[in-house]
Amino acid sequence: MRKKVIAGNWKMNKNLGESLSLIKDIKLAMLNISGKVDVIVCPPFTSLETGANLLKESPVKLGAQNMHFEDSGAFTGEISASMLKSVGCEYVILGHSERRTIFNENDEMINKKLKKALSSALKPIFCVGETLEEREANRTEKVIEKQIIEGLAGIPESEMKNIIIAYEPVWAIGTGKTATPAQAEEVHVFIRNLVKRLYSPSVSDNIIIQYGGSVKPDNSKELLNMPNIDGALVGGACLKADSFVEIIKSAC
Ligand code: PEP
Repeated sequence: MRKKVIAGNWKMNKNLGESLSLIKDIKLAMLNISGKVDVIVCPPFTSLETGANLLKESPVKLGAQNMHFEDSGAFTGEISASMLKSVGCEYVILGHSERRTIFNENDEMINKKLKKALSSALKPIFCVGETLEEREANRTEKVIEKQIIEGLAGIPESEMKNIIIAYEPVWAIGTGKTATPAQAEEVHVFIRNLVKRLYSPSVSDNIIIQYGGSVKPDNSKELLNMPNIDGALVGGACLKADSFVEIIKSAC
């Protein structure tokens, strides 16, 4: 039985003071719901260390939103896996559609990042998803298949327990448009079958596949009730403790 995992992607929001207060509120609310669902917060880099200190005695886990695949060197503005580990991160979001489209990340780079994260004992939340144009051209499965096959290339079965896949249709991110539970479930089933084909039935049965794209308190329950939707990657609605906690509760 897979446990639900709710992760909050804060994107480029919240300075240090604001981060402190949001983490404190989430931590407090979690006192009543811990154990039933795994919760991850992914604040900006500048709030990670403070976040880690605040979350020491809490079940809430910490993730970063990106990292470079090299260990160190002349990569101005970038951050490495070991830097994230050193401030207490357990997770890292990789392949987010904003990284793919705004920062030109391709499947090959994402594959390198996934491998570096895993070899550094960071658990990736590996994002995949199609654009509206791709969906309308009936290319959703082809697009997701390519992202997954190329993203996971060379990653052994033994590492698959450390990876979360997040299905995030690009047309639903930050737009207020959500995939219907049936639309999302259909792609989650496709992903689970693909993982079975690439690895094994047990990897496929156990892998967590989150849905992301305008998840809100008023649609989370229906989405999370679907048999193959194991959690949510939440953007906008994770920036307020109330709405994030409502989504967590709906996963319980
Ligand atoms: C995201 O950024 O991963 C996301 C799903 O954003 P939103 O919930 O705002 O659509």
